[in-house]
Amino acid sequence: MDATLQDVNAALHEAQVAFLSYKNLNGKKKAEFLNAIADEIEALGQELISTAMRETNLPEARIVSERGRTTGHCRMFANLVEEGWWVDARIDTAISDRVPPKPDLRKMLVPIGPIVVFGAANFPLAYSTAGGDTASALAAGCPVIVKAHPAHSHTSDLVSNAIQKAIEKTSMPKNVFQHLHGNGFEVGQALVKHPHTKAVGFTGSLVGGKALFDLANQRPEPIPVFAEMSSINPVILLPDSLEKDFEKTATTLAASITVGVGQFCTNPGLIIGVDNEGLKKFISKLSEEFKKVLPGTMLHQGIADNYHKRVVQTLAQQGIKVEGESAQKGENNQGQPLAASVPASEFLKNHLLAEEVFGPFSLIVKCKDLAELHSVINNGKGQLTSTVIGRDKEIAKHKNLLNILVEKAGRLIINGVPTGVEVVPAQNHGGPYPATTDSRFTAVGTDAIKRFVRPVAFQNFPDSLLPDELKESNPLKIWRYRNSEWGKS
Ligand code: NAP
Repeated sequence: MDATLQDVNAALHEAQVAFLSYKNLNGKKKAEFLNAIADEIEALGQELISTAMRETNLPEARIVSERGRTTGHCRMFANLVEEGWWVDARIDTAISDRVPPKPDLRKMLVPIGPIVVFGAANFPLAYSTAGGDTASALAAGCPVIVKAHPAHSHTSDLVSNAIQKAIEKTSMPKNVFQHLHGNGFEVGQALVKHPHTKAVGFTGSLVGGKALFDLANQRPEPIPVFAEMSSINPVILLPDSLEKDFEKTATTLAASITVGVGQFCTNPGLIIGVDNEGLKKFISKLSEEFKKVLPGTMLHQGIADNYHKRVVQTLAQQGIKVEGESAQKGENNQGQPLAASVPASEFLKNHLLAEEVFGPFSLIVKCKDLAELHSVINNGKGQLTSTVIGRDKEIAKHKNLLNILVEKAGRLIINGVPTGVEVVPAQNHGGPYPATTDSRFTAVGTDAIKRFVRPVAFQNFPDSLLPDELKESNPLKIWRYRNSEWGKS
């Protein structure tokens, strides 16, 4: 049932009450809770898999692997908070005989308060109810209110029930996690505007993410919105290498563009190369590969309609040529794999061509020489990823290209594909606008926790009043930076 504005208000008041006790729980207790969430999600068994498949049209293997990723990140954050070092404790002890006397200063990261998380259409488990935003916020010590995505509301209910069971099993504050439905923008907007909300996690469209970001900035007390929105993940094909490796490159890229009906935020939607023999052979092989890929049913009718609209719009632009297409025509709820090309001179004039077409689509930009290829890259907007494909010697000659790309993307890939995001501490899943609204943070990996904390310094505090992380005896035995040295003392 859709939440009312009274429900939103009550949920935020209860979240604030929960915050005042949850924020003080130690890492071991929070780890028990996060591990219990993972266990309870697994205990949902086939019902969760069947429900998610029915609601999203995604195949069983994909849902099973997404469940593994979801329970995996819950357990990863459990380990992190149990280890405890993530609070980044820094200690500068007093020097009383200095003139003027130096005070005792101790700093660590603390949770910011209730977090609103919007479930994502394209990841019913891993970026939704118990997704990375929820798990990292709970790990940080923040209560979470999830606005369920209406395209998979039953899946969301099942996961929410699993989290409720974990709350009971581990005796967590009752409303540390809450789950609201709302079809239409009223509920989401009220959640963002509520004075107790301290940050927002979002994955979805550029229009939606930007609207929520603007709303959060217009509040009397502005709050951060961590929105992951729009990325076309450029792939740069270095010309000399392509002459030799066109076949493997085309096969690998065709698979990456069309996997999961192209509904990944890291889908390679832009391919940039120099218009030589190598690129011609690459396009011909890519076209062969595209013929073999069947159209696939998309996540929901709205996403399919949007894909069809954007493809038609793109194909109507000056200089566009269809280069590869599935041999079979899809239904109206399906995404038809499609590759098109455009001369760089037209691409550079037309902003619409650099916008995301969410689905199994990629645009090949044909540059007349390396100078034009540099112009295309220089003009590019912020991205989650940028990829360079070439042999080692040729890549080494293009250090200046990598120097530009590092300004534009959150993850740089050499000789790989952008799809497939490892959930590990060294991961960065973020990037300059419009990929996200805050390029300083990642939505994947342990550092995702940093979105929901802030530093606090304690000056001249008696030891008994300090958090355990900062006490002189270091009772938690965590790594700390004490008087300019790392250690566990
Ligand atoms: P969406 O339209 O951005 O919606 C995502 C969530 O945000 C929904 O719960 C929606 O609420 C809410 N929302 C959106 N705009 C809002 C606003 N102005 N005020 C309050 N709430 C708002 O995304 P979607 O439905 O998942 O997919 C639509 C399109 O987004 C796709 O076709 C695709 O282009 C893009 N997309 C991109 C990515 C990516 O990773 N790059 C991922 C998913 C989708 P309601 O449900 O109540 O409408």
